[in-house]
Amino acid sequence: MTIDRRRWLKLAGASVAAGWSGACAGSGGGRFGPSLWGPDAGASVRPVPISRDSVIRVVAGLRPYRPNGFVVRAERFGGKLLVHNYGHGGGGFTLSRGTAAMAAEQVAEAGTEGAVAVLGAGAVGLATATILQRQGRRVTIYARELPPDTTSNIAGAQWSPTTVADDLSGPFGDQFERAARLAHRSFQRLVGPDYGVRWIDNYFLSERPLGEPEYMSRIRDLYPEWEDLEGDEHPFPTRHARRVATMFIEPPRYLRALLRDFRVAGGKVVVGEIADRRQLAALSEPVVANCTGLGSRELFGDRSLVPIKGQLVVLRPQPGIDYLTVGGGRFSESGSLYMFPRSDGVLLGGTFQRGVESLDPDPAATDRILASHAALFDAMAAGP
Ligand SMILES: Cc1cc2nc3c(=O)[nH]c(=O)nc-3n(C[C@H](O)[C@H](O)[C@H](O)COP(=O)(O)OP(=O)(O)OC[C@H]3O[C@@H](n4cnc5c(N)ncnc54)[C@H](O)[C@@H]3O)c2cc1C
Repeated sequence: MTIDRRRWLKLAGASVAAGWSGACAGSGGGRFGPSLWGPDAGASVRPVPISRDSVIRVVAGLRPYRPNGFVVRAERFGGKLLVHNYGHGGGGFTLSRGTAAMAAEQVAEAGTEGAVAVLGAGAVGLATATILQRQGRRVTIYARELPPDTTSNIAGAQWSPTTVADDLSGPFGDQFERAARLAHRSFQRLVGPDYGVRWIDNYFLSERPLGEPEYMSRIRDLYPEWEDLEGDEHPFPTRHARRVATMFIEPPRYLRALLRDFRVAGGKVVVGEIADRRQLAALSEPVVANCTGLGSRELFGDRSLVPIKGQLVVLRPQPGIDYLTVGGGRFSESGSLYMFPRSDGVLLGGTFQRGVESLDPDPAATDRILASHAALFDAMAAGP
């Protein structure tokens, strides 16, 4: 498909004018109407208005990163079966339903009967708990924080397993690929407004031809409609743009829905910290699934876990914007950029600060994220 940039922008304006009122009139999809929950390729690629006035919050979260990748592993702990499922880095939302299925497999294979204690109520814990319930297990969640107060609530959450390990070429690569494929299939079953999962166009922007990072090349078929566009073939002010379709998840809606499903299926939730392994040993359940994310550093002594701080500047929701951008060519020279338009706000990222523990937003990062996105979208609006 080739379409010149002037025409892209014109079409975008027309589709926003025509499509937006139509979307509002729809029913069953919340305030956006149903059109947002299906593919809408290219329909509303128009510049995002960036203004400090529109900022509604600035937040930061810590990605639970392990250079060697996530852990899904069973061990014996006292008389219990302990199955770990943690350390997903920047791809924890994406992979959650895959590693949850893998952890549930390990529980089934070990043959230990009885109830399960799931530690943690982020994307990983909730997926693990609900999948175990479907296997007929009685499950209790023990968690220090529940949604909306987990790291998972901060996630973007683009379906794309990025920043998951330093190297995907070794044996971890196969585990990574399996988790990604299981998760991709599982999230597809949840597409729609109830779980807040939808398909959306992603544009990766660059001044140079885009290479293929390993996390993408291993699972290229999970990024449908892949096309590399140049110059006037796309509407952005960068030389190159890669368009792929991914799923996109609304964490507040999705996590709430999972917690609801868990409770409807008879699950119990106990809010509080598991302070140490003695407390763990005292739980009545014979099976424990550890989904504590970064919490596994203290609770299980995994010193290889390192936080990667990510900061987001969130603008008020802008319903006419229906595509993601990642990168920004010459506009992103001073750091990484991404724009994710969610119904609870347009997320502008981002930062990837390895080893930084603080959750305090950094005003300099806010300035950079706003200024770089403003430059990118102003240049897009100005046209060729
Ligand atoms: C800015 C940002 C953007 C991101 N974007 C994306 C994205 O686009 N796509 C994507 O896939 N991922 C993204 N991520 C990564 C994603 O957020 C994480 O990988 C994911 O949330 C990890 O989920 P989790 O359930 O393991 O951890 P968490 O959400 O942190 O949940 C851990 C749970 O364990 C509990 N817990 C911890 N310790 C204890 C204890 N001792 N006792 C009791 N309970 C305990 C916590 O209270 C919580 O309930 C992003 C992250 C950030 C910060």
